[in-house]
Order: sequence, then structure tokens, then C-alpha cells
Amino acid sequence: MPHQKDCKPEPGFLQPAIDLNACEGKGPCIPACPYGVLELKLLTGGEFRQLSFFGRIKTRVHGREKAAVSFPEKCHACGTCVTACPEKAITLTRFLP
Ligand code: SF4
Repeated sequence: MPHQKDCKPEPGFLQPAIDLNACEGKGPCIPACPYGVLELKLLTGGEFRQLSFFGRIKTRVHGREKAAVSFPEKCHACGTCVTACPEKAITLTRFLP
């Protein structure tokens, strides 16, 4: 539920969603986030198999590392990671509990 006083959403109301086919694991979103929401992680075998054909090729070239949303409850929806990503792989999405 958005905060009524300043109309900003409460932390975790919106969370980043990573398009794993688009993410190249370059990582500018990691230091860009002021709240430590994101980390670089190696894809699991199952995650890798779910990628598109081109997503698998890109992932092999870039060492299988991808941005991961490790602490979604800390997200303040500032949008900094969205603009920091050169691949436009991040969107802010409302996650329902
Ligand atoms: S929207 Fe802001 S707080 Fe949320 S993950 Fe991106 S940079 Fe961090």
C-alpha cells in the first residue's frame, strides 16, 4: 500500500524485475542501488536452460553472471537501477504477497 503522506510507495511495494535474457551481467545496477537490493550471481543450470537461444549465447559470452534481486523488501522504487542498466533489462514491478 503506498504511503499516504508523501504518496511514495513503502519499501518493497515495487521491486525490480530482471529480464535474464537481456541482462549481460555488467553490473552497473549493483553500485547504483543506494539500498543494496541487487547482487551479481551465477545462473543455476535450471535458470540457464530457461533462457532463449540468444539469451544462452549472450550468457555464455558474459560468464553466466546476472543481476539478481536479493533483497526485494528493501527496494524504494527510486528507479536508479533502471536507468543504470545499459541493456534496459530492469523494470519496476508490483509484486503481490
Ligand atoms: S529501484 Fe532504486 S531501490 Fe529499488 S532496486 Fe532499483 S536502485 Fe535499488
